[in-house]
Amino acid sequence: KTAATAYDVVIIGGGPGGYNAAIRAGQLGLSVACVEMRETLGGTCLNVGCMPSKALLHASEMFEAANTEFAKIGIEVAPKLNLDQMHASKNESVTALTKGIEFLFKKNKAVWIKGKGRITGPGTVEVEAADGSKTTLSAKDIVIATGSEPTPLPGVDFVPGKVVDSTGALSLPAVPKKLIVVGAGIIGLELGSVWRRLGAEVTVVEYLPRITPGMDSDLATAFQRALTKQGMSFKLGSKVTGSKVTDAGVELTVEPAAGGAAETLTGDVVLVAIGRRPYTTGLGLETVGVQTDKRGVIVGDHFKVAPGLWVIGDVTTGPMLAHKAEEDAVAAIELIAGKAGHVDYNLVPSVVYTFPEVAWVGKTEDQLKADGVAYKSGKFPFSANSRAKINHETDGYAKVLADAVTDRILGVHIMGPQAGEMIGEACIAMAFGGASEDIARTSHAHPTRSEAVKQAAMGVEGWTMQA
Ligand code: FAD
Repeated sequence: KTAATAYDVVIIGGGPGGYNAAIRAGQLGLSVACVEMRETLGGTCLNVGCMPSKALLHASEMFEAANTEFAKIGIEVAPKLNLDQMHASKNESVTALTKGIEFLFKKNKAVWIKGKGRITGPGTVEVEAADGSKTTLSAKDIVIATGSEPTPLPGVDFVPGKVVDSTGALSLPAVPKKLIVVGAGIIGLELGSVWRRLGAEVTVVEYLPRITPGMDSDLATAFQRALTKQGMSFKLGSKVTGSKVTDAGVELTVEPAAGGAAETLTGDVVLVAIGRRPYTTGLGLETVGVQTDKRGVIVGDHFKVAPGLWVIGDVTTGPMLAHKAEEDAVAAIELIAGKAGHVDYNLVPSVVYTFPEVAWVGKTEDQLKADGVAYKSGKFPFSANSRAKINHETDGYAKVLADAVTDRILGVHIMGPQAGEMIGEACIAMAFGGASEDIARTSHAHPTRSEAVKQAAMGVEGWTMQA
């Protein structure tokens, strides 16, 4: 048996949590190895998550614009879909991004150890390579960044090309005639939008009586209306209890969530997108006495699970988002290096990259009401924003919620084109403890959509003026 290779920090998982941790550790002069079992770095986000989904969202949005919007502004074209090329372009971007992480590893002296990592005791990780060979690493600190996987739906087995998860839905070889999406969360609605734009008839089945839980309900209603107008159908308050794959496609058994007669929906492809769950299979947590909660989450205290053992990203508490994993990573490594590290999950923005986009940060109105917080609200529609009007993109609005007494901003909610870009200013304002008056009295360039955020903040003060 050879001696273990020793590092200051060994990170298990090379997604946005793991790779940012590795890079930050390298920057701080710590010797660091990152164990990743995929063929490429970047985790779910770069390989089968954020990036390929955004590539398809962008391409399909342009295809739809070419089909429906171009003629209105005087551009006549006859668009034809080349799905193979769309996938090739997506794959090319993904490869460039994952190679970019490899480059950053080299630049920051972080070592990528390819294989599956298993904790075998305090401070030791055994890595099994694809060929079965094993190496042992020792570390002063181990960081668990193993991420998450799609949650399966009981009674609905995955069948390649027919009943798929998000990974399958990112690479369908042909546009399905009928696509049924189970789950009206962000991933289901983004991928449902992609295939609808490319020609599929899309029905979304959701257990709850509303779409996108977690989104301000006022915004969720407006968002559902926008998606319905685009041709997406919704079956809310409905429970999927079983599926049967036939030559013709997939038969789904659906019942009202409140009870009642079952019905059968048929589609060519079913996308199951009911959420994601932490991934800890074969990680050896039992060897260090670590237990997960009943949803499989490893719970840390300021990322610390036990002496010398840390956890970040999707596998721990907080929103399952790439930028949250990145913040966790930096905070955890800085704590390991003896510095201060903290992440405020209330200030992690959420974005749905559909058209229009929906983005928000802080509290929803529903939460403020439930918590009994006295608040003021200002709202401004894009139909009154000059840039949105000129671009014929007037669906949606910006809403600012502020404390009724102190005027401190409590939440900002935007539905509109590029809402994901606009939410950044709200995050900054809130991180600085800003008041709605701070946004209202800050000059925003004209004509830009961000003026809608300023106008909504002015609405809190009662002096919105642009129309
Ligand atoms: P992951 O990215 O899941 O990385 C974990 C890595 O650990 C994986 O590569 C895995 O192979 C590896 N691993 C696990 N166990 C071991 C082991 N024992 N040994 C070695 N390696 C191991 N988030 C956003 O913020 N914006 C978006 O637009 C967005 N879009 C998404 C779209 C889709 C379709 C999906 C599925 C997700 C999306 N997400 C998005 C969520 C985002 O991908 C995750 O929040 C993010 O990837 C979490 O990062 P992580 O590092 O915690 O885990």
